[in-house]
Amino acid sequence: MMIKENLTEINDTLPEHVTLVAVSKTKPIADIQAAYNAGQRIFGENKVQEMVTKYNELPKDIQWHMIGHLQRNKVKYMAHFVDLIHGVDSFKTLKEIDKQAKKHKRVINCLLQAHIAQENTKFGFSFNEMNEIIESDELKDLHNIKIVGLMGMATFTDNEDQIREEFTSLLNYFNSKKSYQSENFDLKTLSMGMSGDYQLAINCGSNMVRIGSSIFGVRNYFS
Ligand SMILES: *Cc1c(COP(=O)(O)O)cnc(C)c1O
Repeated sequence: MMIKENLTEINDTLPEHVTLVAVSKTKPIADIQAAYNAGQRIFGENKVQEMVTKYNELPKDIQWHMIGHLQRNKVKYMAHFVDLIHGVDSFKTLKEIDKQAKKHKRVINCLLQAHIAQENTKFGFSFNEMNEIIESDELKDLHNIKIVGLMGMATFTDNEDQIREEFTSLLNYFNSKKSYQSENFDLKTLSMGMSGDYQLAINCGSNMVRIGSSIFGVRNYFS
């Protein structure tokens, strides 16, 4: 395993303003521990139960990011520790996160997920739907969440122009909403880019990249 070497190589190429989320989904505790020993503290998972198990077994100064599609009934299991939820794609989910965060007297940071890809398999809001949430009175009532940024995934394609266009559309939207600041809304984080496209994403304004296979190797899915 080359986890430490892979991390060093990636960190050497990341500009200082870009935060690395090491995506450890499907990977064993030992791999995460190896990355932790190499200094990595932010890890991303896409299944709540898997993240809870890993949280329980690993050092408590790890910041856990939920990057996957979220089922509302699972929010309660991670509300006491999750550091950032990337994939918020409905107002109902946001309300549930708020409700569960309140029980733990926490404010949970969230990113709204934008649908920027051509595939209709990827989750997320259209820009119009995000506008509706941002401008709604109901959002003002949620005191235990804070929308701190946006997340997007580009189409899985070799066409760099298309990927660049999709990332740029999200950057432009992000920039247009930066001045909308309130108690629970302050856009700072733009989460774009995975192993295959993170350099392109950074060139398009991303300041948080979610990298899995380039750190931990290819994943085996058994489910
Ligand atoms: C799995 C996953 C990643 C990491 O993908 P890699 O190609 O392995 O870097 C990033 N973001 C999301 C939302 C993911 O589900």
